[in-house]
Amino acid sequence: MSESMKGNVRRGARRWYGAARGLALSFWMPFVCMALSQAISFPYLPLVAAIVVALVGAWVPGRPHAGKSAWRIVRELLAWLFAAVHFAVVVLWLYFATGAFGFGTNPVFQASVKDADRIVVRDGGGLCHSDPDKEPSLLEITNKAEIAAFNEMIEFSGRKMQCKCCGYPGIDWWRDGRRVVVSALHHGYALRVEGYVGDLRLSVESSRRLQKWLEENCGVTEGNGCPRYQDCRYGRDIIEAVAQNLVTTGVERKPTLSDLRREFKKIGGKFPSCPAGGKYSLTYGEDGTPTVKCSVPRHD
Ligand SMILES: [Zn+2]
Ligand SMILES: [Zn+2]
Repeated sequence: MSESMKGNVRRGARRWYGAARGLALSFWMPFVCMALSQAISFPYLPLVAAIVVALVGAWVPGRPHAGKSAWRIVRELLAWLFAAVHFAVVVLWLYFATGAFGFGTNPVFQASVKDADRIVVRDGGGLCHSDPDKEPSLLEITNKAEIAAFNEMIEFSGRKMQCKCCGYPGIDWWRDGRRVVVSALHHGYALRVEGYVGDLRLSVESSRRLQKWLEENCGVTEGNGCPRYQDCRYGRDIIEAVAQNLVTTGVERKPTLSDLRREFKKIGGKFPSCPAGGKYSLTYGEDGTPTVKCSVPRHD
């Protein structure tokens, strides 16, 4: 090896060491950047900062040194160790903040819904105490342009959360009669999507647009967090209980809905109604058991 080549190798090694030293001295930086990342919804900040520090470190390489003292060796080992810690923290952060290194969360999701031929907004949640096959739909869109416009609204910020509820409403994508993506909106700002770890936070703009869209198209407001068919069923249960009570106490043999309305007024209660706008009908079984049915499909 010629002297000039040796010199190049030494300079190269010093630059690498310079980068490592930069990372080691700023091993605390990812923690600050993580907090900032959360604040500005940019999960790649720790990575960007680490790259900048490494470049600056390489630009200002370590001083050349002839002999190696024990202290110098320890110091260099520590630099590499802290640089490794810095690197590991940045990688772990990216993994947890974005999922599967998240470089693809948005593109991967968009690719999975791109060819959908139907989007169903469900009167239910997702991936917990819910059965997407039994829940009534609030709205279905099958128009290609409308589907594309809906998909375009969805943009993940890279942040994640994990809450204990099932979310509302459910939003599913179908293709060729098969459900390809099951999801549920959480609190208006996160989407729990089957196959993804954690609930994917939407960007501020995306969340605002999606909520507005759901309110305008499905009458779903943020406070409207419970499946409507469940509310409807509870309401009908109450009406049935009051009717049953009138029958067994012999006040009325077979009270009609208007009788019951009067009865509710008397006891000062609000007469239940279907949140989805369904009409109630009341029938009596052979044994005189009252049954209230709702006109909305699947409200049973
Ligand atoms: Zn939730
Ligand atoms: Zn109903």
